[in-house]
Amino acid sequence: MSRAEEIAANLAQVQEKISRAAADSGRTLDEITLIAVTKNFPVSDAQILFDLGIRNMGENRDEEGARKSEQLPADIRWHFQGQIQSRKIKSISSWADVIHSLDSLSHAEKFAALGEGAPTEFFVQINLEPERHDRGGIAPTQIDTFLQELAEKAEIFPIGLMTVAPIDQDPLQAFTELAEMQRRVRLQKLSMGMSGDFEAAISAGATHIRVGSSILGSRGYPA
Ligand SMILES: *Cc1c(COP(=O)(O)O)cnc(C)c1O
Repeated sequence: MSRAEEIAANLAQVQEKISRAAADSGRTLDEITLIAVTKNFPVSDAQILFDLGIRNMGENRDEEGARKSEQLPADIRWHFQGQIQSRKIKSISSWADVIHSLDSLSHAEKFAALGEGAPTEFFVQINLEPERHDRGGIAPTQIDTFLQELAEKAEIFPIGLMTVAPIDQDPLQAFTELAEMQRRVRLQKLSMGMSGDFEAAISAGATHIRVGSSILGSRGYPA
């Protein structure tokens, strides 16, 4: 089987599971954006995904995203979902359309200072296990203050919340918690669900799922 056939088969399987999860929870497919996470895979794989109709791709690192976005057709929406480094903000903004991992006011102010050059959509990342400081995201208790500061000091109005389910917790419970928070703070979108848990995320209301290894295979090392 060629690499293109392999990716096509994996993608079809993921899309089938998305359809089933959506139908099971009475949702329609147009409410759910599949972001193919291409990190650690070559640009040739991303090109195959493009040829299969994928127009939303996710990356965690600035250099890699910049390189791929330059080599691929312009009508791809690039999603940045990695931890943000302050000195990379300008560069990230040169290729990323959507930021999923906003968790700092000073970063928000740097994005805002870029004016028209800033990404157009932001998600605030929530860390559902705030005792773990190696995880990106703000603590759930900080969300109201953070949204208020973003609006007042950076004039950034996020479209939604994003999270990565804690490893040792039922993902459905974590996603339900995020969905409740999203409704309470009146944001529109929910970026949640990866290869291992996107069906649970869809049933909890995800509008953006970020799926890598189920489509492209094992990355061999984490990123
Ligand atoms: C790598 C990554 C994904 C995709 O993970 P898979 O398990 O390969 O589907 C999604 N979201 C974030 C934030 C990631 O770092």
